Amino acid sequence: MPRPIEAWVHADALAHNLNCARRHAPDAKVWAVVKANAYGHGIERAYPGLQSADGFALLDLAEAERIRALGWRGPILLLEGCFEARDLELCSRLNLWHTVHHEAQIDWLATHKTTWPHHVYLKMNSGMNRLGFTPSAFRHAWQRLSGLTQVESITLTTHLSDADAAPGSARGIAHQLAVFDAATHDLAGERSLCNSAATLRYAPDQATLRGDWVRPGIMLYGSSPDFPHHTISQWALQPTMTLRSQLIATQQLQAGDTVGYGSSFVADGPMRIGIVACGYADGYPRHAGTGTPVLVNGVRTRTVGRVSMDMLAADLTPVPEAGIGSEVTLWGRGPHGAVMPIDEVAQAAGTIGYELMCAVAPRVPMHSA
Ligand SMILES: *Cc1c(COP(=O)(O)O)cnc(C)c1O
Repeated sequence: MPRPIEAWVHADALAHNLNCARRHAPDAKVWAVVKANAYGHGIERAYPGLQSADGFALLDLAEAERIRALGWRGPILLLEGCFEARDLELCSRLNLWHTVHHEAQIDWLATHKTTWPHHVYLKMNSGMNRLGFTPSAFRHAWQRLSGLTQVESITLTTHLSDADAAPGSARGIAHQLAVFDAATHDLAGERSLCNSAATLRYAPDQATLRGDWVRPGIMLYGSSPDFPHHTISQWALQPTMTLRSQLIATQQLQAGDTVGYGSSFVADGPMRIGIVACGYADGYPRHAGTGTPVLVNGVRTRTVGRVSMDMLAADLTPVPEAGIGSEVTLWGRGPHGAVMPIDEVAQAAGTIGYELMCAVAPRVPMHSA
């Protein structure tokens, strides 16, 4: 028997979460963001659940080719655009929409010989200071693109840095939205501003923010973009990835006994623990300390001690019937309808769901369900 750890991708949950994005942004078209190999799910595994999207957004040209290879004929958007001039040949051949966020990308387009009409996402740096033209340079870029025969349409876009901010905090989306509106109010073209957090929190009530296209990523994968202010159950999202394994040993501890490297956990009385075939070499976060939630036979318990390369330990106190072979849910769907949100594991490890789902190791077999 192979080592019992495995991951599952749930197409029905992806479809459910995509519908949730649609409900929050009525009338807008939806880019399903599938960068980073569909947030670690695998593009080919995620595709069946996301096929009703209006388009797929990603950054890697090889990933765009993989989506075309699956038979997708609709729009595909390169969120970082072309990295060099000859990438435009692939854009023309595969009909890719592409972001333009700096001047050289316009130069490349101006000299590109094509009969394919290019759909361009013109990106403004409205305050995040990663990619995009400054508000004052934006109009000139728009005018240059408008004059190119290669360009069929220009969508005005920006990315929000604080759509997940705590309610009532000084951070938020108002400043970026004002900057964007002031610089674009008289420019023609569709608009796209919302990531998952903005789609869930602001798109339902703010038509100008909602725009013509929303770009949800993380919400499609069953992680709350503004956890812990909202959990996935509060947003009615479902986990799309399950990481599960089994107990491969149990130990009976007495008061004073320790668990794992560094003896960081010390039992304060008799207790039973189970050893789980899952460690940091599987992508489980080593920073998840004692107390990280985990399901054993669908019952919620906690990890104890340090995560090692191939194993971790779970407190079996709430699940006395557990033994070798018992099912352990690290995150996702457990037995009997139990759910272990990836966000809670991420929080215990001082990170976010995005990082955990992107980091499941290649040695973990991942299946579609
Ligand atoms: C990753 C990304 C998104 C999706 O962000 P989520 O927080 O995962 O919803 C949207 N737009 C751009 C430009 C991105 O890079």
